[in-house]
Amino acid sequence: MRSKTGGRIRLFILIISLISIIFIMLKWMPFIDGEFKSLKRVIVIDPGHGGEDPGAIGFSGNYEKDINLEISKKLYEKLKEKDYKVILTRDKDEYVENLSRAELANKRRARVFISVHGNSLENNSSVDGIQVLYYPNRESTIGDLDNNELAQIVMNSMINGTGAKDRGTIEREDLIVLNQTKMPAILIEYGFISNENEEKRLLTDEYQNRVVEAIVYGLEEYFSLNLDNN
Ligand SMILES: [Zn+2]
Repeated sequence: MRSKTGGRIRLFILIISLISIIFIMLKWMPFIDGEFKSLKRVIVIDPGHGGEDPGAIGFSGNYEKDINLEISKKLYEKLKEKDYKVILTRDKDEYVENLSRAELANKRRARVFISVHGNSLENNSSVDGIQVLYYPNRESTIGDLDNNELAQIVMNSMINGTGAKDRGTIEREDLIVLNQTKMPAILIEYGFISNENEEKRLLTDEYQNRVVEAIVYGLEEYFSLNLDNN
């Protein structure tokens, strides 16, 4: 009798222990999972313009907003493959206020903000090449590198990856997506769509992929140099 009761008690304790362990695991797993997710580096990609705002009009009449979205979506996919947490400020042809774009990035605690635009010049179809704009004189609040350095790293990578002309990194204080974002932020002008050849190139998947690969390469370099950011 005694040994049978003892056996039952042991079995009871074992079952209670197992239930407790399962309960604790279920309780903590979402937290642990959440922790892993929050360690992912958040990148916000901002396809410029949209909806009623077409942006620049290309040499052959293409809208900047459409090319911005195509390149941004490719960039989104590539960065997700690299295990970044990626957020688009728009994923379709819709109008979004510039301030909302910056606020979204602030709210989601992005590590980097990248606005994607095409360039154009009125009455000049000969100029081509890439520019990267950044907000001047602000030290990064995350990591060691400031906006200027981020702009330069991405520019170098884009020039190497595409063979396009380097039209320089340019300080811009007046752009809302750059001056209202609290993280390192750049605006990439991937090329002049007012230039016939550059517009044609920018409409192909092949060249868009090269642009995207080059941006990703630059970002990977930025994160590897920005030690606090890993
Ligand atoms: Zn634009």
